Amino acid sequence: MKTDVLIIGAGAAGLMCAITAGRRGRSVLVVDHANRVGKKILMSGGGRCNFTNLGATPANYLSANPHFAKSALARYTPADFIALVEKHGIAYHEKELGQLFCDDSSKQIVRMLLDECAAAGVRIETGCGIERVRRTDEGFAVLTAHGEVHAESLVVASGGLSIPSMGASGFGYELARQFGHAVLPVRAALVPLTLSGKHQEHYQDLAGVALPQAEARAGKRAFRAGLLFTHRGLSGPAILQISSYWQPGDELRLDLAPDAELGDWLLAQRAARPAAELKNVLADALPKRLAHRLCELWFQSRPMRQYRDAELREVGRQLHDWPMVASGTEGYRTAEVTLGGVDTDGLSSSTMQSKLVPGLYFIGEVVDVTGWLGGYNFQWAWASGHAAGGVA
Ligand code: FAD
Repeated sequence: MKTDVLIIGAGAAGLMCAITAGRRGRSVLVVDHANRVGKKILMSGGGRCNFTNLGATPANYLSANPHFAKSALARYTPADFIALVEKHGIAYHEKELGQLFCDDSSKQIVRMLLDECAAAGVRIETGCGIERVRRTDEGFAVLTAHGEVHAESLVVASGGLSIPSMGASGFGYELARQFGHAVLPVRAALVPLTLSGKHQEHYQDLAGVALPQAEARAGKRAFRAGLLFTHRGLSGPAILQISSYWQPGDELRLDLAPDAELGDWLLAQRAARPAAELKNVLADALPKRLAHRLCELWFQSRPMRQYRDAELREVGRQLHDWPMVASGTEGYRTAEVTLGGVDTDGLSSSTMQSKLVPGLYFIGEVVDVTGWLGGYNFQWAWASGHAAGGVA
């Protein structure tokens, strides 16, 4: 069969691209090897899809070329996606820091995208894997599980490697290499970190303990967004965010109470409660189980009056600057995104078209553009999908 545009991957980027191209009157076919479309949209944002971020700017993205995302993000903004959401009557709210979520369910976003695809005459085939792709005089011949498709434009929207059980595959990277594109090294990002050896033994029974204000730092990056102890290590927003900037062997530092000056606070507590034990005083500033554990491991817990000024200041300093030795990450099994991917050097930043193979496009997560936690990754999927759909 023939189509103007063949899109591989019916996720966020692929569906947005299909809608945009379909509205221009192009015949569009979207194929996906999974049994249903938009699986990651459905599971996103705890089932409520954090579909964009009001404050999305290129500074919220990691890429070997930090300028690459600028053009697409400027031409399809959070306001554009919000207008679509409002057109479909989907109720939403801002949770925090510009993060917009559906009030009800992420199913509404998938429904909205499918309704827009139907209105634009887009055809979608699920359960349809790709066996072979070759270049022809007219464009591309793609052998799918449902037969051969001839397309003028081929858009690769097959995502990254995170959550293989949801259909993630390295297909897009392989196709990019087949057509001569460089693929930058990939790794799991927005992912919990693991501890090992004595570090894990010391903290594993604190699983479930949360510090909503804690800050995680790696290099020059710091995220004050909260952390959570898990059986295998650390999670929570600050850890997920910093995981995109951290690699095994890098230094990772935690500030358990960045809004307080714990040294001064401990001196004041000593004056007010001289007979109280340090572990019980610290339990007013930190979760009790953590305060007690740190006193077992680091500070002997004695009545406050027995500590000198310098000792209490040192306790405060350590709690604000804890060098945490993480051993690795939980990997693609739980990662929200894949860092790295198709090198942007080979792509047009305004259309996502290959500079090497006319008619070939790469959009969404398969490209070396990775957003922070908080709706930024979907905004990139919408924006890059829209950019390609405007010309493919
Ligand atoms: P995907 O959505 O991954 O879509 C790729 C599609 O291609 C899939 O349907 C897949 O089945 C298909 N495919 C793959 N290989 C093949 C192949 N060989 N043949 C045919 N089809 C193929 N981001 C946010 O901004 N906000 C959130 O709230 C959020 N929550 C998330 C929660 C979780 C648990 C996860 C894992 C991610 C979350 N993300 C979130 C990240 C976001 O889901 C992704 O960045 C986004 O889905 C990327 O869109 P995409 O279209 O590029 O890829």
